[in-house]
Amino acid sequence: MIQGQPVDAKRLAAALGARSIVLVGMMGAGKTSVGKRLASKLGVPFVDADAEIEAGAQLTIPEIFERFGEVYFREGERKVIARLLNSGPQVLATGGGAFMNKTTRENIAARGVSIWLKPDVEVLLARVRKKTNRPLLQTADPEATLRRILEERSPTYALADIIIESRDGPHESVVDLTLRRLAQLLCASSEHAPADRRRVEVPLGARAYSILIGPGVIDEAGAEVAHIAPGAKCAIVTDAHVAPLYLDRLTKSLAAAGLGSAAIVCQPGEATKSYEQFARVSDALTEARIERRDIVIALGGGVIGDLTGFCAASLRRGVRFVQVPTTLLSQVDSSVGGKTGINSPHGKNLVGAFHQPSLVLADSGALDTLSEREFRAGYAEVVKYGLIDDRNFFEFLEARWREIFSGGPARADAIATSCAAKARVVVADETEQGERALLNLGHTFGHALESLTHYDSARLVHGEAVAIGMACAFRFSRQLGLCSGQDAARVEAHLKSVGLPTRIRDIPSLGVGAEDILAAMRQDKKVERGRLTFILARGIGESFIARDVQETGVLEFLKRDLEPTTVGAHRRP
Ligand code: NAD
Ligand code: MG
Repeated sequence: MIQGQPVDAKRLAAALGARSIVLVGMMGAGKTSVGKRLASKLGVPFVDADAEIEAGAQLTIPEIFERFGEVYFREGERKVIARLLNSGPQVLATGGGAFMNKTTRENIAARGVSIWLKPDVEVLLARVRKKTNRPLLQTADPEATLRRILEERSPTYALADIIIESRDGPHESVVDLTLRRLAQLLCASSEHAPADRRRVEVPLGARAYSILIGPGVIDEAGAEVAHIAPGAKCAIVTDAHVAPLYLDRLTKSLAAAGLGSAAIVCQPGEATKSYEQFARVSDALTEARIERRDIVIALGGGVIGDLTGFCAASLRRGVRFVQVPTTLLSQVDSSVGGKTGINSPHGKNLVGAFHQPSLVLADSGALDTLSEREFRAGYAEVVKYGLIDDRNFFEFLEARWREIFSGGPARADAIATSCAAKARVVVADETEQGERALLNLGHTFGHALESLTHYDSARLVHGEAVAIGMACAFRFSRQLGLCSGQDAARVEAHLKSVGLPTRIRDIPSLGVGAEDILAAMRQDKKVERGRLTFILARGIGESFIARDVQETGVLEFLKRDLEPTTVGAHRRP
């Protein structure tokens, strides 16, 4: 067995964040005994998925198999594991067949680290011989059956993040080996990198880049930028709110890596995405002698990211740029995907370019200085990813939103899951020909409401409009008979619990009718013969693009939705 430094369990637990350690492998592999010891070393709970299933069903697993069959059991098992993964950190032991399910493997990959306990076959046989209650081994020749199952499953078990091969030694030595392998995986190769980092890759071929997420990432910017552009000159574009908070740290980090930098400070606010500021920043970049091999850095929210990205896209026909997003919205949305641009007198984002960043550094700790309202607004876009195609993530948010707001490890996890979701859509549809439209969930209603409030951020900010829009999309889907009332109510309840608005009438003194809202929607979206494109949902995590929604149906929905709730509905609890 490999000898080495004793593993720092505290550091390992910090690196784990809200993720779970998931033990997979055959029955009799020692998942329970190894799992319990591992959990106690790390100071996290041990949970046995099979025990949870039995407790929930009030039946033993052989009984469930006998009464309802394997298919029924597997479906229940998938759901239980998905639910358990939302309450990490923990060590989770799973039944032998659980990892065979693709959805379960994806859920584990998103919220856990998988470990295959792979014992010697003879050891396994000896252990299993002693037990008689394994439903899959009730055959004439249990040994042959076990060998066959092992052969079938091994290629899938081998997909686990870590494989621990063990002979029939004491469980303690298996635990020590597992801890060391976990430390190698989680505590990063570089000694400088703190433990609590998440990295999401955006695999766009020649334009591929990484998103690095975690508290304090700004202080590692120098090393990260030097890695992609050794010896480059840097120009940092930021705004007057962000500069006093983070510019100094960024500049020092660059200097420590031998990278010189100039700074260009803009006025905060949407008005900065203008032709004037585009010209001013472009000229300042030229004066800073930024050339093709140099790097432009956007330090700030989506306004700075969009403007800076567009300047970088056009300066010398394109120089590389790095996003250092400092608002939640920019960390989970605008910094990823390569859309850049400015506003024109004719409308928002009308002039721009697709220009992917070369690196994104999302310092989740920088969100501590963001106003509560801005944080909540960005959170609406986080919820959006759950609603589009990840019901599990939505459930994670329901369970962990307080920790996300207060800055615990779940915050970086939520940002990473959101970035991964956006990255998936962007990779499938980089220039928004089709599927990328799903990201507009809640935005058709939302944009109409923003335009009716004349983009007055005192009354309504983008994220609030999106929250109302998503709640509308679910209520509308319900009215069309697509989605259950339960799911629509659940979406609304979660948005409300974090303090986001969900009803059109939540907007202070809006004073418009259903026809006005429909008219505003018509301006936002192309209308073909009285039909509009909407993102609708069959349930939480099951959104789809509906291209032929009848205007009359929308109008009817809006009229109903604008009605004040009847007094009677409030009276009874
Ligand atoms: P923003 O950039 O205006 O930032 C909001 C406010 O927070 C500003 O006053 C800013 O100075 C301040 N701020 C930023 N970071 C801070 C911090 N860490 N602490 C304290 N204050 C901080 O707004 P936003 O919501 O980040 O971005 C909105 C913009 O993003 C819009 O222009 C929108 O069009 C654009 N956007 C672009 C995309 C895209 O794909 N490119 C996607 C969504 C939105
Ligand atoms: Mg948005």
